[in-house]
Amino acid sequence: MANHTSPFKFTTPGEALDALRAELRSVSAEQIPLHSSRGRILSEPLRADRDSPAIDVSVMDGFALRLADLPGPLPIRGDALIGTPPISLAPGSAARIVTGAPIPLGADCVIRVEDTTTSDDSVSFAPNLAASLPPNRSIRRKGENARQGTEIVPAGTLITPAVASSLASCGRHSPAVFRKLRVGVLSTGDEVLPPSATPQPWQLRDGNSAALHALFSSLAFVDSVEMRHAPDDQRQILAAASELLSRSDALILSGGVSMGHRDLVPTALAQLGAQTVFHKVPQRPGKPILAAVGPRRQLILGLPGNPVSVLVTAHRFALPALEHLAGLRPGHAPPAILIANPDNQTIPLWWHRIVRLTPDGRAELIDNKGSGDLIASARSDGFLEIPPNQANAGPWPFHPWHI
Ligand code: AMP
Ligand code: MG
Repeated sequence: MANHTSPFKFTTPGEALDALRAELRSVSAEQIPLHSSRGRILSEPLRADRDSPAIDVSVMDGFALRLADLPGPLPIRGDALIGTPPISLAPGSAARIVTGAPIPLGADCVIRVEDTTTSDDSVSFAPNLAASLPPNRSIRRKGENARQGTEIVPAGTLITPAVASSLASCGRHSPAVFRKLRVGVLSTGDEVLPPSATPQPWQLRDGNSAALHALFSSLAFVDSVEMRHAPDDQRQILAAASELLSRSDALILSGGVSMGHRDLVPTALAQLGAQTVFHKVPQRPGKPILAAVGPRRQLILGLPGNPVSVLVTAHRFALPALEHLAGLRPGHAPPAILIANPDNQTIPLWWHRIVRLTPDGRAELIDNKGSGDLIASARSDGFLEIPPNQANAGPWPFHPWHI
């Protein structure tokens, strides 16, 4: 909800993210081989292509017969097997049957083997069986699990091993999925050097691009992550951003987004014709974050340059926004986890506190010297999102680094 008395357009990270998602459209679809589809996102619902089961089948090992022929004994005529068409059952006889085999034509019940005794070619039955038979008489009826045309999962579903199994069962050997995303990553800053460089004491190596590359390239729905760097120069930021944007679905920048005189990213994005969705969210770290949409409705996020800010905002904003672009339907809320070592500290902002998970499933706050503390984040498992002025142990939503 917009709040006109505050410097923040949105008062929570969740509302800001929802507003951004509302501006984005999913990419187009393509068909791909089922065996390459793990982690991709269905662009159409999956429906049962036929009844499941497709024919009446036995739930038990035993004998198929006509209920009216009980109490028996009955001669054994025939064997109902799996993977063969249904046999015909002569009146006044029983057929051997195994679990999963088609019910013989004419039979209307299966007596489980435990309730029978056989001698030579005939089978006898326990007394008073008919009264104790289950409702479907040990037959799984055609269509009982799902009728032909039933929606198994909707469009926007991530293809997991379980979904792959259903796709195969329904004959979807080349499912329709949303195409993969092309992502551009642009780090800014005069002081930032590549990881291979030896920095002077006033310089540092580019940790942010490495973090963003590691995150995005691990996503099965991301095709490419193209990385650039620009110094704090209006013209060069504009040129690099424009080039990346011309061939990307999303552009994620780091640094240069605060209000200092060297923070040139907001101006460069405005010159590119980007429409701002929000600039600043009442959170720590990551308060100066800027979200916009490009001229072709690309996702644009300007993340504040501190490495911990980048990690947190990339997971809290870039990841769900990319998922939305990639066609993923909104999933479950993040799991809520209790703090193992609450410290009674509060701030009047949404606080993303980095934590390590304990063996008993709680979250341990890690000593963290501020949004530049790289060491603490490398030793952590993710962060909790704690509302303003809350000192209690939660449980609070947990966002993991490992996804
Ligand atoms: P900025 O948001 O540009 O003001 O940057 C905030 C802080 O993050 C500064 O101390 C920067 O030196 C640092 N920083 C910016 N970009 C990077 C980067 N790519 N890797 C590591 N640290 C960075
Ligand atoms: Mg900078």
